[in-house]
Amino acid sequence: MKPRLRIAPKFLLLIVVLVPAMLASGWIGLQGLSAMRTTVNGITGDNLRVAQATAQLSRDVSRAEALALQSVIVTQPLPQAELDARLDDLAEPAVDADLATVMRLDVRDTFALDRLKTMSSAWRAFLALERTGRFDYAGPGVGYINQATASRVAALFSAMEQGTGLLVDKEVHDAGIARAKAASTQSHYRVLMLWVSLGALVGVLILVGWLIRDVVPRVTAYSAFARRVAEDDLSGRLQDHGSDELSGLGAALNRMVERAEESREMDARQREFAAAMQLAESEEEAQDLLRRHLTRVVPRTDPIVFVRNNSDDRLQAASTRELDTELAARLVDAKPRSCLAIRFAQAQHQGTGLDPLLECEVCGKRSGYSVCNPLIVHGEVIGSVLLSGPARTDDAARRRLRESIAHASPVIGNLRNLALAERRAATDSLTGLPNNRSAHDNLRRMVAQASRSGAPLAAGLLDIDHFKQLNDLHGHQKGDEVLALIGATLASTVRESDFVARYGGEEFLLLMPGTEAEGALVLAHKVCEAISSLIFRGLEGPVTASIGIAVFPEDASEPATLVRHADRALYAAKRGGRDRVERFAASAVTAAD
Ligand code: GH3
Ligand code: MG
Ligand code: MG
Repeated sequence: MKPRLRIAPKFLLLIVVLVPAMLASGWIGLQGLSAMRTTVNGITGDNLRVAQATAQLSRDVSRAEALALQSVIVTQPLPQAELDARLDDLAEPAVDADLATVMRLDVRDTFALDRLKTMSSAWRAFLALERTGRFDYAGPGVGYINQATASRVAALFSAMEQGTGLLVDKEVHDAGIARAKAASTQSHYRVLMLWVSLGALVGVLILVGWLIRDVVPRVTAYSAFARRVAEDDLSGRLQDHGSDELSGLGAALNRMVERAEESREMDARQREFAAAMQLAESEEEAQDLLRRHLTRVVPRTDPIVFVRNNSDDRLQAASTRELDTELAARLVDAKPRSCLAIRFAQAQHQGTGLDPLLECEVCGKRSGYSVCNPLIVHGEVIGSVLLSGPARTDDAARRRLRESIAHASPVIGNLRNLALAERRAATDSLTGLPNNRSAHDNLRRMVAQASRSGAPLAAGLLDIDHFKQLNDLHGHQKGDEVLALIGATLASTVRESDFVARYGGEEFLLLMPGTEAEGALVLAHKVCEAISSLIFRGLEGPVTASIGIAVFPEDASEPATLVRHADRALYAAKRGGRDRVERFAASAVTAAD
């Protein structure tokens, strides 16, 4: 069997690939966003704040420079004092604060630090210059300009303005670098995300392709198969030898179709059986048909049909051919009630491991498993069918057994009744021997057979001597008793292949196939002796009989002529003194013949 991963794990594998790929892609995206935010924060936070603070410093430095230069250049004492106050109280603290802010924001950068140091030292130099009092009005009058101080102030502020300018340039430059870095980070993560997404897509496509390639053709084949089965075509089978769920489904479908086909075949066999049963001519033939049919529809079992013989109160097997010695031994003394299926008129199960409450005397001790069903006709149990096998039969087999028995029971019952009626119609009730009608039927059949085979057929007609007298002397009942005993003596004296019938009144017909006149005469003498040696209570002497013999084809070529010529010989025997045997003599034939 080709090993194949089950379908559920395949989907799981797809999820196992898809989910981490999505997570990885998402994580990379988040990382990119985070990196971008850091960069943007760097720009908006550091660079912007430093630029703003530097711009503020630049503005405050310009204001301080303007005030300082006015203070140096202004010529009136009153505004001078106000200018000094504004420089000391407003401009200078603002520049101090701006410098401190810029330093606090941009201490990491050496270039900025150097610029700030330069600006601080220029600022400190300016403050020191201011403290020397050179800004105070001391000149000769309005319009006096302290040229040297002004130049000095202008130089100091120029250094500071240059510093702020450089700082702003530097921040703009840094912001440019950060922007480029952000663009590079974005591009990097975009490419990474693209590759991961592409990888995941390829992986998922491969897996989906694999699933489709593995599942879709099989599902298509299964659906085509199911359609064919629905249209009653049971000939095909699914060829899927894997071990996954679909293969399991395929195997189950195959099994269902096999069962349907089996059931169809069994139905056909049941119909064939029912038709064959209608053609059965004897109970034995019907029983044999039932037995052979059961071996076909319930394989691996050994069917035996039991017959209920009510007249002898016996249970017999319909055919002794299939009996094992143990069962044959059990049947020797078996009565119909020995079979539980017959006794309870319902199916009985016996066998190893079943532990039934009552053990069947017929099949209870058999090894393996046995099921026995009664044959019931119009409420009367006429026999049973025993199925024995190594294992318990399944429901379908038991159903087939019940159906077969349901078909067979009425047919067997009818044939039995028919045979009984025919037997009664052909049997003489007093002697139990075949009657005159049966004698004629058999005579015709045996003459035809002798004619075909070319073998002789001897006929003997027996008549009891002085029987009228016996009746008269001892009564009709005694005569009947004598007739019955002579009939039984005849039946036991002749050979099995011979035929003996009560031909009428106190006459009996003997038919001896394959027997020449000599043999027939010997047998006839033996019969006469057997009769004359019988002892009847109340009768003084023996009862004797006379027999006339004629042989086919020597003495007659027709059945009727054969009996007539035997009768003629009998007449001769009577005339010859009775208690004797005479063979037909052609010379004795009169014109009437
Ligand atoms: P024969 O020796 O010439 O044969 O003398 P017979 O008395 O036997 O003469 P026949 O054969 O003509 O007699 C037939 C007698 O058999 C007449 C009849 O009373 C008697 N019989 C015929 N059928 C029965 C029967 O079923 N029971 C009894 N008891 N008697 C029968
Ligand atoms: Mg007679
Ligand atoms: Mg007689």
